[in-house]
This record gives sequence, C-alpha cells and structure tokens, in this order.
Amino acid sequence: MQYEIIDSHCHLDFPRFDRDRKEAIERARQSGVIRMINSGIDYSTNAASLELARRYGFIHATLGLSPQMVPHASEEKISQILSQIERNIDRAVGVGEAGLDFHYCETEVGRLKQTEVFRKVIEIARKYGKPLVIHGREAEDMALQLSRDLDTVVFHCYGGSLETMQQIVDAGHFVSVPTLVCFSEHHQSIAKHLPLENMLIETDSPYLSPRKGRNEPAFVADSVPQIAALKGIEASEVAETTMKNTRRAFGI
Ligand SMILES: [Zn+2]
Repeated sequence: MQYEIIDSHCHLDFPRFDRDRKEAIERARQSGVIRMINSGIDYSTNAASLELARRYGFIHATLGLSPQMVPHASEEKISQILSQIERNIDRAVGVGEAGLDFHYCETEVGRLKQTEVFRKVIEIARKYGKPLVIHGREAEDMALQLSRDLDTVVFHCYGGSLETMQQIVDAGHFVSVPTLVCFSEHHQSIAKHLPLENMLIETDSPYLSPRKGRNEPAFVADSVPQIAALKGIEASEVAETTMKNTRRAFGI
C-alpha cells in the first residue's frame, strides 16, 4: 500500500544529483512523496534551492547558513548570506538549515562564532515569522535554549539525547526523524519515544541512505513502516500525521 508522504529535508541541488536529478524527483513522486523541502546551507545552495522551488511547485525552499562553514568563513561571506536570506524570504517556507555543530568544531573561538551567527539567523526567522530548521550536532541542548521562544522550530535529522528531545516536545516544537531510523538503534529509540504529533520525517539526501549508495527523497517511504512498527501503530497513521505536521510547521 502506498501513502502520501513528505520529505521534510533534502538537498536535491547537490552535485550527487547532477546526473539524474529529474529522474530522482520523478521516483519520489512515484513513491508517494507529494512534497519535498530542499534546504540551502550557503549562498550557492540557497540560490539553487530557490531555483528548484521555482521550477517545481511541489518542492519548497528553506534558506540557511550551515554551522559547518561558519568557523572558516569571512565576515563578508557571512553577511552576504544573511542578506540573501532576507532578500528572498518571501520565496522561502522557512529559515535554515542553521545551528550549531560542535562535532567537527572543537575550538572555543569557532564555537563562539557559530553561536554568534546562529543568533543572527534566529533573529531573521523571528523578524519574518518563519519556521527555523536547525542543524544541531553535539550541541542540541544549546541550540534549543537559543531558539525555543520562536513560534516554530524543526530539529532536522535529530540525533541528540532523549532528554533534550523531550524538552523540544515540551516547547511545542518538531523533531525530524531521518531515514537513519531504518538501521540506527539510537534513531529507533528517538522515533519510539517521540510523540507522533511532534514528528516529521526526512531523508537528508544525498546523505544517510537506508539502502546501498546515495539517498534520495523516494526512500523516505522506507521509514514509514519502520516507525509504525516501533510505535505499534498503522503505517498509514505515521504517513498521514507526519504529513500534516510538516504542512503545519511550514505552512504548505
Ligand atoms: Zn541537511
């Protein structure tokens, strides 16, 4: 049986889709993926996300500034991206991905810079009343403390603790479960304990494939029966509720 689902986070503009982007989008549609949210991480991917959204009515863009690039980026580069986000805000369904990634950034200076830039992105989301898509790695709790008073926050590809997850839920925000749930025990535990009302699903493709090779939006379908089994509910309920949640979170 096939359900209508939404891939709430992907990167179809990345080079790994250059060879077969159109076909990958078509395969997603064939698998019941009625919408895809493509997230930018820097200047060029923000522009590419807007272009995809312009071309396909069922693909939506969020405009971001990934924390991974922040420690090494010039002030000029960062302010260029921040103004790009503001300038194009009406064409975006959300702001992000942005946040904190302390996994690969071990210096205090780099982490402070990430925090400072993240605060600026949060202020853009607040100013324009847009949902914020957070990339948080080994800093999920701090990312929540900084953003919790926004109306809508989505923790994309969440892999943090169950305690912080509960705080995200208590604050009324969303946690997006990646296709990692098909094989990672930690993500299975997250999916099991996360209330369905707060759950989104995503591929983060081309990364984190549940199958061999590259991930693609069609594979978000793999997560649905997996999550249903973990929660002891029907797959159709997982599909329908996560779709409604995504629509509500992004106003689509
Ligand atoms: Zn991503």
